[in-house]
Amino acid sequence: MASHSQSRPSLRSDRHLPSTKPAGTQVGGGGGVNQISGRSKAPGAKRSINAGLRASIDDDGADSGRVRVAVRLCPKNAEDLSHESNFVDCVELYPELKRLKLRKNNWISESYKFDEVLSENASQRRVYEVVAKPVVESVLNGYNGTVMAYGQTGTGKTYTIGHLGKDDSSERGIMVRAMEEILSNTSPLMDTVSISYLQLYLESIQDLLAPGKPNISISEDSKSGEVSMTGAAIFQIRDIQHFLELLQIGEANRHAANTKLNTESSRSHAILMVQVKRPSRVHEGNDFSSLENTATADLPTILKSKLVVVDLAGSERIDKSGSEGHMLEEAKFINLSLTCLGKCINALAENSPHIPTRDSKLTRLLRDSFGGHARTSLVITVGPSGINYSETASTIMFGQRAMKVVNSVKLKEEFDYESLCRKLEAQVDFLTSEMERQQKLGDSEKKDMEMRLKECEMSLAEAEKHLAMKEKHQLESSAFQNLLADTTQMYEEKVAEVIKQLEVEHSHIANLEEELVSVRQQLTDASNSLEWRAHEDRAANAESERQLRVLENNRRSDFWIEENCDSMKECGIDCGNLVPSSEKRSDFRKEDDSSSRWQKQQEAMDGQNLQLQEMSMKNEESARIIQSLETAKDEIFSEKNIAGDDVEESVIVGNEKDKKTLAPREKLK
Ligand code: ADP
Ligand code: MG
Repeated sequence: MASHSQSRPSLRSDRHLPSTKPAGTQVGGGGGVNQISGRSKAPGAKRSINAGLRASIDDDGADSGRVRVAVRLCPKNAEDLSHESNFVDCVELYPELKRLKLRKNNWISESYKFDEVLSENASQRRVYEVVAKPVVESVLNGYNGTVMAYGQTGTGKTYTIGHLGKDDSSERGIMVRAMEEILSNTSPLMDTVSISYLQLYLESIQDLLAPGKPNISISEDSKSGEVSMTGAAIFQIRDIQHFLELLQIGEANRHAANTKLNTESSRSHAILMVQVKRPSRVHEGNDFSSLENTATADLPTILKSKLVVVDLAGSERIDKSGSEGHMLEEAKFINLSLTCLGKCINALAENSPHIPTRDSKLTRLLRDSFGGHARTSLVITVGPSGINYSETASTIMFGQRAMKVVNSVKLKEEFDYESLCRKLEAQVDFLTSEMERQQKLGDSEKKDMEMRLKECEMSLAEAEKHLAMKEKHQLESSAFQNLLADTTQMYEEKVAEVIKQLEVEHSHIANLEEELVSVRQQLTDASNSLEWRAHEDRAANAESERQLRVLENNRRSDFWIEENCDSMKECGIDCGNLVPSSEKRSDFRKEDDSSSRWQKQQEAMDGQNLQLQEMSMKNEESARIIQSLETAKDEIFSEKNIAGDDVEESVIVGNEKDKKTLAPREKLK
């Protein structure tokens, strides 16, 4: 139980559920339920729990932070039945109206409204669903929760809370069903569910799961206000069977302890504490301060909620101590905690400034359950028989007062330093291995780089060498080009000269040809005239021969006449006319001249033929020269072309073509 001023600043995220409605309403003689304004609206309320949970919590318009109280009527037991003839039932239930009528006598009765009214026929399942399920769901969502049974001994508190249902699972009580629900909604890999099971008797806490452990003390976290049992054994639950075994052990130990202490289980309180740790999955908003928010934005959070299930000792002592005149101090001695719980509930219900939480161990344990930050559900168990009217009335009044208590439900979310630590350790491991790997990688990369550097240096040297060669070649190339230009010019000049020479030769040949033609013409003419003359000469010769023959004949006759003239004269014949004259003799000489002139013409013709032969020879010589000049010209042209191509090629190919570029130069040389 917490006083109103106990909110302390901490890194813990205590998210409040909004208080949406007034706490409750007075029904009949039950008294009004005052809204405890200071609690109904928690100062840090910023976030509501999930819709499903809210639906179940807001059922019937109940305040989400208010202590919910259900009343359960137990079946009549043997004692009730034995007194049935003397005592009429004092309890009438109206479950639909969620009302209970408490009949004092035939004339006086009072009606009370509860959050749930459960008849003697209500199943354990139904009781769980209306009483505990919303709280369990709330716990699963990261809120603390308390389910508690309060009532007279024998009215079914243990049956409601702690029945194991070994023979019949439908008889399982709230503890088992709550654990079933928790286990089915948590992951063994991600979440942790652990329990402690304790008994509180005469202000002494015994560990029901480790009975040998002495001195279980209650400790409170000064920051969070969380209450824990120092030294209590904590068992992590694997499955429901494991839990049932632990509960059985606890029950056995409780029985043994009570026997040893010479008491009854009805005088001790059994407290099951279920701790649920789950990684926080919802981060829709939180109430961290902005500073915390920025500083811790990346920190993992964990939902660390606790379900406290309490099977209280029988409440009749307190009541009876008053009604039957027992010493209050004795009653307090017998069950100080229960008395103190009643006082605290009263104080809270009345909005008292002082809540005597620290007066008993039970109230210290339940400090979060009543007036604290837990969602609390209380089931009060009553018997029907009028014989227990006062106990029943007392229980009902307790329940009615408890309904007035409003808690400021807060999400129990903490920074998960453990998982953060684990994560950081894993991260450190990873980073260390990564660093080592990187270092190794770096070393090999360094080697690679060094090798590459060397290669680059070599390449650079090579490139520089090539560059120098290229420059050299370029210089050579330009020199060669100059040389080529000079050579080309020289060849061009040569070619021009040859062409000129050729032209001269051509003109010379043309002249010669003309001359040849004219000589031929002359020769032809001469030949013709020679032939004509020869013809004439032959005719003249023939004539001359004829004349010669005539003359010969004449001469012969003249000679004969001359020779015979004297004889003729002797014979009387005049032979004067017959002697040859001087003209005739010159004609004979003329014939001799003509013959020598023909001879001369023949000689001239021979001379001309000779000249013609010489000219032909010259002509042939000239043709030969022309031919050689043509050949020389072609060679010069081809050399020039080759030289040009080679120069171009040497310029393009550059360094690699050194030899080739030098070739034409060599050629030129
Ligand atoms: P308490 O713990 O309040 O002293 P118990 O739970 O021990 O009472 O119940 C006393 C007896 O009454 C038990 O035998 C229990 O089985 C029985 N009993 C109580 N409530 C019911 C119920 N609603 N239905 C059946 N049996 C019940
Ligand atoms: Mg009991």
